[in-house]
Amino acid sequence: MQVPLLDLKQQYAMLKDEILQEIAEVCASQQFILGPKVDAFEKAVAEYCSAGHACGVSSGSDALLIALLAEKIGSGDEVITSAYSFFATAGAISRAGATPVFVDIEPLHYTIDVNKVEEQITSRTKAIIPVHLYGQPADMQPLLELAAKHKLCVIEDACQAIGAEDRGRRVGALGDYGCLSFFPSKNLGGFGDAGMVLCNDPKRDELLKILRNHGMAPQYHHQVIGSNFRIDALQAAILSHKLKYLDSWTESRQKNFADYQGLLKDCPEIVCPTCAPWCTRHVANQFVIRLKNGLRDKVWDALKNAGVGCAVYYPVPLHLQECFQSLGCRRGDFPESETAASETLALPVYPELSHIQKKYVVDTLLSILKEFRR
Ligand SMILES: *Cc1c(COP(=O)(O)O)cnc(C)c1O
Repeated sequence: MQVPLLDLKQQYAMLKDEILQEIAEVCASQQFILGPKVDAFEKAVAEYCSAGHACGVSSGSDALLIALLAEKIGSGDEVITSAYSFFATAGAISRAGATPVFVDIEPLHYTIDVNKVEEQITSRTKAIIPVHLYGQPADMQPLLELAAKHKLCVIEDACQAIGAEDRGRRVGALGDYGCLSFFPSKNLGGFGDAGMVLCNDPKRDELLKILRNHGMAPQYHHQVIGSNFRIDALQAAILSHKLKYLDSWTESRQKNFADYQGLLKDCPEIVCPTCAPWCTRHVANQFVIRLKNGLRDKVWDALKNAGVGCAVYYPVPLHLQECFQSLGCRRGDFPESETAASETLALPVYPELSHIQKKYVVDTLLSILKEFRR
């Protein structure tokens, strides 16, 4: 049997006629850049995330960058973020001209350890970017209190967590900005790149919308230096349609997540992911297990050989990436992030995963571990 890590073809087969209809409408209108499809999508996502405003952009990475630009964060400024995330989180900080300052993660939930944030705050600190990793919120309440105390901007990286909730409140609208990605593999994925910045302040939203269009308002008059960070109308039309299914897909992901938790709980080598006490809605973007004692790479290979798609998110923590060498971090600086990088393995959790496939993943994994035990 083959179980891919993600199977987007199944989802497309189910939605094909409806999506082609959406595409046909945009083609008939020949309005490909911004316009009514984008307006409607922004409104729908803002509502879904309980945010006041939404600004469609070209990607999740650009969403992070444009939020930093809107806050005029740049050279000489420091931005605190998690040492364990997809590269874009820290990449955006550097691209804006600022310096990423890393904080270790909380080992159980892989989100920024809020207790270690304050010691990194300096007179240059301008913002904090918590990452809601794998579909689970960072511990936002104490983080927001800390940010308020030090007058820091909070930019949520919610690229993996659309619809997740911290203490009953949707992520993306808790901080000053919330960044979403619609990269095809995310819970709500487009047919190409797209992203969004959420916020509650109309002034901020206005600036974001100017920045995504070369800082232009009115036409050919440039108040600020932006760039082309626009979302395509085609993506907005496809994503608006797919948004209607997001809750049912999330439920299927949650079911797969819970099934794995149950089926793997008695295996001594595996640590299953759990819901954090503050998390009232985990959207199960990934199901990431930990394998102790140097087992991870061996199990990863054996699973691949048995036809089970799995992946390591992420094998190198941000502070040890080659491009950040100049920041002067060393191995040992963020031990929880480093351990996570060597122990974690993501299993298929996508909504269309069948019961038989799930059984196959579990049986294969357990028999691999049994083999290693001998
Ligand atoms: C996917 C992702 C991004 C970047 O989104 P793109 O749309 O691929 O640019 C940023 N941060 C995290 C945590 C992500 O998972």
